[in-house]
Amino acid sequence: MTLDTIVLGLGAMGSAAVDELARRGQRVLGFDRHDPPHTFGSTHGKSRIIRLAYMEDPAYVPLLRRAYERWTDLEAASGRRLLQITGGLMIGPADSTAVQGSRASAEEHGLRHEMLDAAEVRRRFPEFHLPADHLALYEEIAGVLFPEACIETYLARARDAGADLRVNTAVDRWEIDNEGVRVIANGEQFVASQLVITAGAWSSEFLAGHGSSLQVTRQIMHWFQPTVSITHFLPDRFPVYVWEPPEGDVFYGFPALDGPDGGVKVAIHHGGEAATAENVDREVHRHDVERVHQALQGRIPSLAGEWQEGAVCLYTNTPDLHFMLGTHPEHANVHVATGFSGHGFKFASVVGEVLADLVTTGATRMPIAPFAPGRFI
Ligand SMILES: Cc1cc2nc3c(=O)[nH]c(=O)nc-3n(C[C@H](O)[C@H](O)[C@H](O)COP(=O)(O)OP(=O)(O)OC[C@H]3O[C@@H](n4cnc5c(N)ncnc54)[C@H](O)[C@@H]3O)c2cc1C
Repeated sequence: MTLDTIVLGLGAMGSAAVDELARRGQRVLGFDRHDPPHTFGSTHGKSRIIRLAYMEDPAYVPLLRRAYERWTDLEAASGRRLLQITGGLMIGPADSTAVQGSRASAEEHGLRHEMLDAAEVRRRFPEFHLPADHLALYEEIAGVLFPEACIETYLARARDAGADLRVNTAVDRWEIDNEGVRVIANGEQFVASQLVITAGAWSSEFLAGHGSSLQVTRQIMHWFQPTVSITHFLPDRFPVYVWEPPEGDVFYGFPALDGPDGGVKVAIHHGGEAATAENVDREVHRHDVERVHQALQGRIPSLAGEWQEGAVCLYTNTPDLHFMLGTHPEHANVHVATGFSGHGFKFASVVGEVLADLVTTGATRMPIAPFAPGRFI
C-alpha cells in the first residue's frame, strides 16, 4: 500500500504537520536527520515569544488567532504546560516598526492593547528604562511558548495516531514520478502521494532554485544573572518584550522562567553572520556577549549582570523576511513551509493545520497567499 504523505523534517513545523495528518487518518511517514527536539536547528532554547499585535504585518493576525486557539487546545488535550501568558511590550520610538507596526495591526484587527509612554512603562515595569521619546505597545495576551515540550507533544501524539516517524535518518533527495513522490533516505526509496518539506535551515537543499533565496544566519541566545534580585524578573513583574532602538540592534527577551537559579534570557534579533546548518560556529564567544551587553546598557541595566550560558540557533531568512508557506510552484503534490525568518515558532500550530489542509483538500481557509513559495524567482 502506498503512503499518503511523507514529511521531511520533524522540527517545529514538521511535528505539527505529522500530528495533524495522522489524526486526519492519513498514512504518514516522517523523517528527521536528528532526534527532535534537538539543538542543531531553529527550535531549541526553552522559550519562544508569542504575540498577536504583529509588527511584521497585519496579514499575520488571522493566522495568529488560530495559532493561539490551537496551542491552547493542544495544551488542554495533552495536559502539558506549553504556553504561559506574561503580557508583552513592543518598545521603540513612535516611528519604529515595533511601535508603529504593532499598533497598525492592533487597530486594523481591533486587538486589545495599551499605548504607554516612557514614564508609564517605568512605573509599571521598573526594570525597563525607556528614553523620553520612546513608547511601548503593551499587549496582555503576549507570552511564552515552550518549544521543546511542544515538539515532544506533537511527535508523541502523531505516533499514537499511527504516524511512522524515523529519526536520525536523513533524506538525501526527492523526485516526482508517475506513482507520486519518491523520497530517497539512507539509500532506501519510499513513495507517497504527497510530500511536505519542513527542513528548516536545511530547506534549500530540497527546493532547487526556489531555495536559493533563503539565507541562514547564526543567532545567539544568552542567559544572564541580573544585578538585582531575580524576583524583579519573574513573569508577574516582567513581561516579554521586543526593543527596537533608533540605531543598533533590535533585541528581545523573556522573564525569568527557570526559578531563582536560572538566568534571564535575552537575544538580538537578526544581524547574525551568514552560515549553513552544517558549517555554523556553534560556540558563543566573548564578542557575542559584549554585543548583547551593549544593547542592554542604559535600557535594562539590571539585566546586564553575569553571563550564565548561551546557545547558537539558526534563522532561515527569505529576502522579504516573510514566510514561505504553500504548495510548491511547480508540483501540486509538494507543499513547503520554511523561511520563517526568525519569527515562525508561534505559528507552528497553525502551520501544521495549513499543511494538512493543503495535503488533504488542496486548499486552506487560512489567508496564506502573501507567503507563496514561488514569489522569489
Ligand atoms: C534564537 C532564536 C530565537 C527565536 N525566537 C522566536 C520567538 O521568540 N518567537 C517565534 O515565533 N519564533 C522565534 N524563532 C523562530 C522559530 O524558532 C523558527 O521559525 C522555527 O522554530 C522554525 O521551525 P522549523 O520547523 O522550520 O525548523 P526546525 O525546527 O529546525 O526543523 C527542521 C528539521 O528538519 C530536519 N532536517 C533537516 N534536513 C533534513 C534531512 N535531510 N532529512 C531529514 N530531516 C532533516 C532537522 O533535523 C530539523 O529537525 C527563533 C529562532 C531562533 C533561532
